[in-house]
Amino acid sequence: MEIIVMGCGTSQGVPLVAHDNAGLDQANPKNWRSRTSIHVVIEGHHVQVDAAPEFRLQCLQNKIPAVDTFILTHGHADHVLGMDDLRQYCTNNGGAAIPVYSTEQGLKRVETIYPYAIGEAASPGYIALDLHRMPEELMLPGGGVVRSILLPHGSEPTLGLIFEEPSTGTKFVYYTDCKTVPTPAVNLALDCDLAILDGLRPNFHPTHMTIGKACEVAGEIRAKQAYITHMTYQIDYATYTESLAKEYPKVGLCYDGLRIKLG
Ligand SMILES: [Zn+2]
Ligand SMILES: [Zn+2]
Repeated sequence: MEIIVMGCGTSQGVPLVAHDNAGLDQANPKNWRSRTSIHVVIEGHHVQVDAAPEFRLQCLQNKIPAVDTFILTHGHADHVLGMDDLRQYCTNNGGAAIPVYSTEQGLKRVETIYPYAIGEAASPGYIALDLHRMPEELMLPGGGVVRSILLPHGSEPTLGLIFEEPSTGTKFVYYTDCKTVPTPAVNLALDCDLAILDGLRPNFHPTHMTIGKACEVAGEIRAKQAYITHMTYQIDYATYTESLAKEYPKVGLCYDGLRIKLG
């Protein structure tokens, strides 16, 4: 299984526009974060999780050759607004609609923003989306499995995702945009090879985990390796990488373009 971090910034991206971004070393490219999304290749099948406003650029920079399945974790703008740039992947699939899985609210948001892409309204050459509620267990072509569980995130619950690749026996957990990781989600994630966890910033936020809380969760789920995502400008890459290495040696920070192979 291969995981590509397409973006790991919070909803406004990093650095912030028209802001002093105090404490952030803008000379370090790892502090330039586009909005959060990942691409997972599992048993040779390409799964895109969310489409940030920078989705097109992220696909070019990371040389993403295909999107076979799309999972939208929730309907917030920073995760849904890049979906129109799935166009070329539809064309390359002979115009076939891309299967899209999300929460009830996430699917409603897709229908509101992209009515021209759904069902009979979909025209050749544009995006075509085939919408489905995300099941608890999604069997992918090739044999990969994605389990899901709802995570609290204010008024818009988020899909927590657990990827399991039978051929390598590897397990990857993706819990972005969540205030907490409730016990059932901890149990699903236990002993994973890799976890990518929401760790917005050091201080309290009503709908996201702090970086400290994310580190605690990494320990609770006994992740062999964990990375933090969805970060604000308050998290300077070099500063936090150094402090995490001392306190939580299994936890690191994502950066745009990070690739991790499991198995
Ligand atoms: Zn977000
Ligand atoms: Zn969100």
